[in-house]
Amino acid sequence: MRVLAITNQKGGVGKTTTSVNLSACLAAQGQRVLMIDLDPQGNATTGSGIFKREALPSVYQMLIGNATLDQVRIKTEFGYDVLPANRELAGAEVELIEIDQRETRLKAELAKVADDYDYVLIDCPPALNLLTVNGLVASNAVIIPMQCEYYALEGLTDLVTTLRKVRANLNPGLEIEGLLRTMYNPQSTLTQQVSGELESHFGEKVYATLIPRNVRLAEAPSYGKPVIAFDRASRGAQAYMSLAEEMLARHAQGTGQGPSGLQ
Ligand code: ADP
Ligand code: MG
Repeated sequence: MRVLAITNQKGGVGKTTTSVNLSACLAAQGQRVLMIDLDPQGNATTGSGIFKREALPSVYQMLIGNATLDQVRIKTEFGYDVLPANRELAGAEVELIEIDQRETRLKAELAKVADDYDYVLIDCPPALNLLTVNGLVASNAVIIPMQCEYYALEGLTDLVTTLRKVRANLNPGLEIEGLLRTMYNPQSTLTQQVSGELESHFGEKVYATLIPRNVRLAEAPSYGKPVIAFDRASRGAQAYMSLAEEMLARHAQGTGQGPSGLQ
């Protein structure tokens, strides 16, 4: 089981879109996948077709010790399982502070289902809070979605600093799995410049797959579907399918698995 946190403290960079669509594409490739929604907004949950979620036990109940992972997980019709989130999760921040082993709640629960999954993808909230720390502590590596814009590299420096701290204090095995360029516009000179700098700093940690801006990716969540179940022929669907293939090929060959990217 490989646990990957999809993280970036900046909002609107494609974390949730990547969590849902990469989960669906890995499942379509025959992988056993669990997606964990760690954002109180619950967009990855509804985007996976899980509605009426206020009534369901959520990841929040699991984090505060009122439910087991098995009681919370839901099978989607898209081949992957979900630990759903709802607004309750916003309160978990405060309650976790009073709980023993508060940084390792998620890790401890995941250890119990290590034989059930090949991949666990964690959709992190757009903040570096205790929920995100739980996600980072439970993970083998992080996937960082980013838009190639002017401030992107500064934000990335802050994120890498945080990841190094987590690695030094809480999770010595944490690595960068990959950097993913999202909403990519090949026509923009700025995008090309930022993208080039990213490649020169992070080398093979940058996925070759580019996720284009594609309206079908933005439409699919309102139908409660990953894009491959909504419009399989769209450029967005093809891009996320390529990403899943690139990831699996990297793991099969062991490339990109050398240095952590966080030394
Ligand atoms: P985050 O989880 O990082 O806040 P989201 O995945 O929710 O970001 O994406 C922010 C918004 O941009 C959403 O409305 C989403 O549908 C849209 N979006 C994300 N990726 C793309 C893309 N490649 N093309 C078009 N729209 C996108
Ligand atoms: Mg999100």
